[in-house]
Amino acid sequence: MIEKSTRYRQYSDHLVKKFGQKVYKLPVNLPGSCPNRDGIVGRGGCIFCDEEGAGFECLPNTLSITQQIQENKDFFIRRFNAKKFIVYFQAFTNTYLPLPQFKENILAAAAEEDIVGISISTRPDCINDSYLDFLQEIKLQRGLDINIELGLQTVNYHTLTKVNRGHTLAEFIDAVQRIKQRNFEICVHIILNLPWDNPLDVIENAKILTALGIHYVKLHSLYVVKGTALASIYERGEFKIIPLEEYITRVVTFLEYLDPEVVIQRLVGKGPQDNQLFSNWSTSWWKIKQAIEHTLAEKDTWQGKKCDYLNGKALKF
Ligand code: SF4
Repeated sequence: MIEKSTRYRQYSDHLVKKFGQKVYKLPVNLPGSCPNRDGIVGRGGCIFCDEEGAGFECLPNTLSITQQIQENKDFFIRRFNAKKFIVYFQAFTNTYLPLPQFKENILAAAAEEDIVGISISTRPDCINDSYLDFLQEIKLQRGLDINIELGLQTVNYHTLTKVNRGHTLAEFIDAVQRIKQRNFEICVHIILNLPWDNPLDVIENAKILTALGIHYVKLHSLYVVKGTALASIYERGEFKIIPLEEYITRVVTFLEYLDPEVVIQRLVGKGPQDNQLFSNWSTSWWKIKQAIEHTLAEKDTWQGKKCDYLNGKALKF
């Protein structure tokens, strides 16, 4: 049951229920690349990707993984008296590292005290059985909670092609099936206002993630970072960002069609601070989050309200 007070399943509450206390994520930034930037799958990357590969909140990757974990851990202990942590491999495509190097980094994270979980961010076309089998061993040996974060952004494979993702929906479905065979949880990143997506795509995003049994979702609005391919078409006026009110409507619609069991890790991203042409309508992420929550209450709606389309909806018996 979704609490009427929140109207969507919140990640912080979920972590407390799961681990019996607050748990903090320690972002780790490994030196790496992405097959969509280095030419293996594509060049130039996704049209919205900046050089930092979505690692703008991380410490520099010149620090060792142990140093990064320690520095971040010290911060959370000092500030919040934190006791339990999840190591979050955040920037770039972490399973794109060669297998021996990937293993080394995961083992370094798993060896840390107070670590209850590992979260690994990657692309759907970088999910492979050998990497997953290794993670399964670690999970069994160390009793760690392991989840995989997949960047998808939209289920609309025409849009995925236009944003130069280098994969379409098929690779995502394959990755989800392989991960689920090992019983790891899956988090999916979705952008609800990509230039070529309309409100129907918003609903289909929710329906497909629900049908596939995804566990977590992170929603982001579209950022336009200077120097990206997206910035060029934005500056040429080839697309306009939808107004904030419409974005809020899209988030509410997405939640209505989403399985009420899915945990929402993020309703709106924080966005890069510098070097941006557009980020979150120049409004703080916190205010946007509040506006979404306010709209849910005003419309007396909630996550899963319209999730009635699976298991032979057309049948009457
Ligand atoms: S997959 Fe991620 S790191 Fe690679 S180009 Fe796209 S946004 Fe950048």
